[in-house]
Amino acid sequence: MSSPVDDPTQVPAVYAQSAPPALNAPALAERITAQVAIVGAGYTGLSTALHLAEAGVAAGVLEGREVGWGGSGRAFGQVVPYTKHADDHVLATFGPERGERLIAAVGGGPDLVFELIAKHGMDCQQIKRGLLFAAHNAGSVASLERRARFWQARGAPLAVHDGAAAEALIGSRYYPAVLHEPRGGCLNPLAYARGLARAAISAGARLFEDSRATAITRTGTRWTVTTAHGAVEAEHVVLATDAYTDDLWPGLRRSIIPLRGYSMTSAPLTDNLRRTVLPGGESLSDTRRLYSAIRVRADGRLQVSVDGPPFTAGATPFADKASRRVRQLFPQLGDVVWDGHSTGWVGMTADQYPHVHLLAQGVIAAVGLNGRGIAIGTLLGREVAGRVLGRPEHEQILPLTPLKPLAIKPIARIAVGGLIKLYRALDRRDLANGYVRPAE
Ligand SMILES: Cc1cc2nc3c(=O)[nH]c(=O)nc-3n(C[C@H](O)[C@H](O)[C@H](O)COP(=O)(O)OP(=O)(O)OC[C@H]3O[C@@H](n4cnc5c(N)ncnc54)[C@H](O)[C@@H]3O)c2cc1C
Repeated sequence: MSSPVDDPTQVPAVYAQSAPPALNAPALAERITAQVAIVGAGYTGLSTALHLAEAGVAAGVLEGREVGWGGSGRAFGQVVPYTKHADDHVLATFGPERGERLIAAVGGGPDLVFELIAKHGMDCQQIKRGLLFAAHNAGSVASLERRARFWQARGAPLAVHDGAAAEALIGSRYYPAVLHEPRGGCLNPLAYARGLARAAISAGARLFEDSRATAITRTGTRWTVTTAHGAVEAEHVVLATDAYTDDLWPGLRRSIIPLRGYSMTSAPLTDNLRRTVLPGGESLSDTRRLYSAIRVRADGRLQVSVDGPPFTAGATPFADKASRRVRQLFPQLGDVVWDGHSTGWVGMTADQYPHVHLLAQGVIAAVGLNGRGIAIGTLLGREVAGRVLGRPEHEQILPLTPLKPLAIKPIARIAVGGLIKLYRALDRRDLANGYVRPAE
């Protein structure tokens, strides 16, 4: 067992090799004042800093390790316009007004990401050709059709394709149907985190790496966030630490269940093979419960998300599962040679929604991205900046929720471990009964 706080694994080499250089920002070594102190330099914290800076508000960002050290430097790279839950679940949970606002905002999340990339000239190897969501068995086709109808009614041109059209989009006969979602895309996650950091600094934010916040104390209406060799004194504090949350604020760490995610990367495919796999450049996932994402990166490597030990330190992913999946899906690739894997912690919450907590007057936490942080973390940063700037509640997409530490976290971990085992078994069963178009 290990926890995100003492995790020794590095950010993926395959991302670092093709990302702009690391920031090498200084550690905080003095006492400074800022209007806002932000803890955590992932998408949420950096987007908060950027949006505040663009509104003329100076923020000091404290990062315990380096920009992108958390999930933001380790994500698979899909920029997804949905929360973890289906749209009807969002509407039932948040009510018609806020639910529609949340759905619309998250639906526009990829546009926000790609607009920021363009505006600030970031080099993220972004591919904005949409996403494919395939039905992993015949029963799931209806759920994709429901999603397409929901969005078509709101003017987004989603479409479900089956038969030969699905085969042409994927480069495989494996799935009965596939939803083409034109709004999403893919990018190098670490490059995006570094790009956001550079944009925030250019706009006026101050960033400090190797600067773990160790205490937050109040003096009157102001807060002091302390590090080993310095402190930031500010009116507002934003905690944007997701799965990597430590014990800085009482109870916050216990509101999140960190879960390990893995991905594997192949040696570059030959140009001939590359043209046969996801030829339109979309990234593909399917409707099964666990780990199904697959894409061809801009450098021609195949990347797959893959199952692995959910809580163990130093563990490696189940490579045989990745190989089996690729053989089933793209038999033309033969035995793929894997030459890298990476892992990071996903911040799950009990209800699988992100949460914005007002921890005390002037202290906000935005955590629990549930594995959907590229678009939603960027949006949340804009949202939290809006709260600091005093924007009205009716403009916010997420309500302020009370902090609810899970009473007995070890038991919650066992429950999540049990749920993963159940999901593995259900996926195995579904795939055994699944639909594969017979060879002609
Ligand atoms: C394997 C994997 C695959 C994923 N794939 C996708 C995907 O394809 N698409 C998608 O949208 N999302 C994906 N995600 C989720 C996404 O990466 C996260 O939701 C997102 O990065 C969270 O961003 P964040 O800024 O909230 O937190 P993080 O990026 O985790 O940043 C938190 C930061 O806080 C710092 N920190 C913590 N405590 C302190 C402290 N006391 N002082 C200073 N700094 C501190 C940490 O060092 C860390 O850098 C994936 C995640 C993983 C792990």
